[in-house]
Amino acid sequence: MSLTRARCEALDAADPLAGLRDEFVLPHGMIYLTGNSLGALPKAASARITHMVEEEWGQGLTKSWNDAGWFVLPRTMGNRIAPLIGAGQGEVVVADTTSVNVFKVVVAAMRMRPGRKTVVIDRTNFPTDNYMVEGAVAAFGTYKLRDLSEYGSADSAAGFAFDDDVAVVLVSEVDYRTGRRYDMDALTERAHASGALIVWDLCHSAGVVPIDLNGCDADFAVGCTYKYLNGGPGSPAFIFAATRHHDAVDQPLPGWYSHAEPFAMEPGYRPTGGIVRFLTSTPHVISYGGLAASLDIFDKVDLAEVRAKSVALTSLFIDLVEERCAQYGLSLASPRAPSDRGSQVSFRHENAYAITRALSARGVQGDFRAPDIARFGLAPLYLRHVDVYDAAEILGDIMSTGTWQSPEYQARLTVT
Ligand SMILES: *Cc1c(COP(=O)(O)O)cnc(C)c1O
Repeated sequence: MSLTRARCEALDAADPLAGLRDEFVLPHGMIYLTGNSLGALPKAASARITHMVEEEWGQGLTKSWNDAGWFVLPRTMGNRIAPLIGAGQGEVVVADTTSVNVFKVVVAAMRMRPGRKTVVIDRTNFPTDNYMVEGAVAAFGTYKLRDLSEYGSADSAAGFAFDDDVAVVLVSEVDYRTGRRYDMDALTERAHASGALIVWDLCHSAGVVPIDLNGCDADFAVGCTYKYLNGGPGSPAFIFAATRHHDAVDQPLPGWYSHAEPFAMEPGYRPTGGIVRFLTSTPHVISYGGLAASLDIFDKVDLAEVRAKSVALTSLFIDLVEERCAQYGLSLASPRAPSDRGSQVSFRHENAYAITRALSARGVQGDFRAPDIARFGLAPLYLRHVDVYDAAEILGDIMSTGTWQSPEYQARLTVT
């Protein structure tokens, strides 16, 4: 017999993270299963951003570059994210976007391995990462792009074996489409065994999967802050570089923010030291406000508890949906073993788009990723077991009644 709603209520009553839900704005009547795309609004963010606008900007004006710490925001926010990803102080900056940061980090890594002419990407990765690498390769030399699958399989005991032409490997820990999770220890070790550097994209794991960048000896990492880190739409991304690499970094977008003396206004570029060398230009100050409010919440959270709840919620959702929907052609696209997936559950169906639209009309907000994936990101800070139960019930109803077939759900909106 399946898990009942009453049992889910009991699980919520015993949930050590249950109180955090109250820290977020959650629209009435919506079950929000897209925390992997845009995290919910922390209640404290509005006042924080208003303060930045009215006091720091309105009253402080240029004094705020010093007095409100605007100039050093990329570093101070980087130091606040560091503990969430297993990085040390002075190893992370927050600035620009993930795509731009991929470009900067991959080129810096390519330059640290002169003579090696292969960059390994993962064709299943979020495409923008690979577009940026294509752009980097086009601009900076004669590199071969090869796919990770040419070097082995994550499923095989042998794992991956790279050759000595590989300069850089760029992969995401958690796959945006299926939620599949790579073993960071194993893959980092395989890259290093061949003398290559590895860049980890943590967009779909930061804030929801405990990450130990220094524990696994990672070289570089990038990631979003607007997904599970709840920084708000377009909040700036982060870059990690292991301290041992800082002096060797030669990044391709040198701007005054990474100059040794930005206010000396020298005619030529001279890089500063440390992780700050990855900065380019003026931070998008207001965009850091939401992230600061969210990180105040993370300061109170044990990521091991977040991960335990994430595993419980994703496992629960898989069980409940399969029980109700298996006969309607929904098949699990995410790994079944919890250790092999992040905090999302994806199902394949040839009409996945219409299904996500029908769900949205019933208050369940998932999303669609081409060609056939209905995707549900379960954010443990603000989702309850009963939300997962209710969402599965509604999905079961939509599939059994076929309401997704209604014409209004077939046409694609601009953003899916
Ligand atoms: C979400 C995501 C991005 C987003 O990139 P932007 O530059 O912020 O638009 C990039 N890469 C991965 C792997 C992602 O999941």
